[in-house]
Amino acid sequence: MAKHQFQTEVTQLLDLMIHSLYSNKEIFLRELISNASDAMDKLHFLTLTDDAYKALKYKPKIKIELNKDKKTLSISDSGIGMNEEELIENLGTIAKSGTKSFLSNLSGDKKKDSQLIGQFGVGFYSAFMVANKIEVLSKKAGEDQAWKWVSEATGEYEIKKAKKADFGVKITLHIKDDESEFLEFYKIEDIVKKYSNHIPFGIYMDKEETIPSEKEGEEPKKEIKEIQVNKASALWTLNKRDLKDEEYKDFYKQISHDSSDPFLWVHTKAEGTIEYKTLFYIPSTPPMDLFRVDYQPGVKLYVKRVFITDDEKELLPTYLRFIRGIIDAEDLPLNISREILQKNRILETIKRASIKKILGELKKLKEKDNGKYLEFYKNFGKVLKEGLYGDFENKDTLLDLVLFKSSKRDGLISLKQYKEEMQEDQKSIYYITGENIALLKNSPLLEQFKAKNIEVLLLDEEVDAIVIPMVHEYDKTPIKPVNNSDIDEEIKNEEKVSEEDKKEMSEILVKMKEILKDDTKDVKISSRLSDSPSVLVYDKNDPDFQMQEMLKQMGQDNLPKVKPILEVNPKHEIFRKIIENKDFSSLQDISFLLLDQAKLSEGIKIDDVASFSKRLNKYIAKAL
Ligand code: ADP
Repeated sequence: MAKHQFQTEVTQLLDLMIHSLYSNKEIFLRELISNASDAMDKLHFLTLTDDAYKALKYKPKIKIELNKDKKTLSISDSGIGMNEEELIENLGTIAKSGTKSFLSNLSGDKKKDSQLIGQFGVGFYSAFMVANKIEVLSKKAGEDQAWKWVSEATGEYEIKKAKKADFGVKITLHIKDDESEFLEFYKIEDIVKKYSNHIPFGIYMDKEETIPSEKEGEEPKKEIKEIQVNKASALWTLNKRDLKDEEYKDFYKQISHDSSDPFLWVHTKAEGTIEYKTLFYIPSTPPMDLFRVDYQPGVKLYVKRVFITDDEKELLPTYLRFIRGIIDAEDLPLNISREILQKNRILETIKRASIKKILGELKKLKEKDNGKYLEFYKNFGKVLKEGLYGDFENKDTLLDLVLFKSSKRDGLISLKQYKEEMQEDQKSIYYITGENIALLKNSPLLEQFKAKNIEVLLLDEEVDAIVIPMVHEYDKTPIKPVNNSDIDEEIKNEEKVSEEDKKEMSEILVKMKEILKDDTKDVKISSRLSDSPSVLVYDKNDPDFQMQEMLKQMGQDNLPKVKPILEVNPKHEIFRKIIENKDFSSLQDISFLLLDQAKLSEGIKIDDVASFSKRLNKYIAKAL
């Protein structure tokens, strides 16, 4: 017998579950059934594909037994089982990255934390909500030695050698005194029907039946009969019209480990050259690991109802990684290897059709109920936008689905809405990128747009800075950044810079160019400014500041330095005064002040703050 300590996170999780209010204790059964079902799926797959397992008898069955005297509930399966090492690994640690990072960021408010944890799978450990002691008797398929894992959730557990006739797992819960309802046949039958009706395996229970006696005066006989409690009818294979919303919802909870209702589902049966069934769900809360590289894919692959894998990220594109569900293909070989899987033509076809189906469903929702679409968008819009980066085939649909903030309207707008409000002579869709929405709204770059009542999209999400420059156009209208030197012509101030101004300014520009030659590519007269004296723009083919930052973050730090173009406003008082006084001596300081100011208004850090302050103070003092 060996004692083991739980990993810290497990103790934390158990503590949360045992000592906090958890409103929905009955879900423990769904979690244990789900594990049993997964274990049988895994074994089935091996018996079909792995010679070492081919001789094993695969007889899938889940059995729940209640014992009121001993106050135990047990659940047995004939799945793959676990050996000693696996018991330690699986029932002593937490492997799921999302759960782990959630636990390391607990708020400390137990009620809040336990509500939060209820939003995602709590798995095996949830059984400690109703049991004060748990025994797991396990024998791995193909091995001889069985093991018994025992814990009272006190921070440690024991593992010892044990005897078990068949492979698989039997979990025995010693039910807490105040949870005795979980020893009642009808209660358990209800829970099974509610959460696990449509898993592909039968769940059995012993039912006591009273048989009336044939002879008068004799006591009726009691007989125990084993009955199947669930329908065991792989839900995705059934017809849409035979299924109730509740059944879809419960099935979602079973496969996703999410305890909230799904936001939306799409159930498809394709017949024809390639036959398959898909059932996809969009969750109503984002999965914990949505923005982690090691996210767990949510779609399971089946072939003719046989489970193949739940760990294949290629079944859907990464920008749909929030989707949960099932793909069941008819015409794939069962022993398909991972490498083949990823290049398989049939799967590729299913994938393409699935993407179209999901995006189409979202488009329909957006047209029908924009408010509800916004709910979805709040959770997954950012992820969806990633699709614009790689999925050229669905670019047009995606462009109809993505939303942006705007300089003229509150809330989020679509590109279609933008186009509807375009000015008559407006040539392009304009956007500005940056991190801070207040800075963006007040950027000098927008002055001319405001004057002309042209709307500008405010892109303050990191993903925007990467994907939008790749888009180029929407519905034949070009999409351009406001800091592109190229658009000067398109939004030119009507009161053009006079020839006289140009002449007077040319000398100043020559000097400024010389002064700023290390920091700027060019210094030019701007026609897009009305109030501000200066602004930074970028050459048509140069990445702007946001883009450069992005590239750096993505690990490209040996990029050539891209210098911006400084545009100045000849009508600004600063230049008027310099010209009136015919005194260029201040230009050395002014040039740097204008450059630094333009940087600040774009949210760029200035390198030499000390010199900036010195210059600024010099001119404040002069003015006093
Ligand atoms: P999850 O099921 O979400 O991975 P759990 O804590 O419920 O998390 O289970 C952890 C792991 O223990 C499972 O991933 C599985 O490998 C193993 N396991 C649990 N129950 C069984 C079972 N009945 N048969 C075989 N393995 C099991």
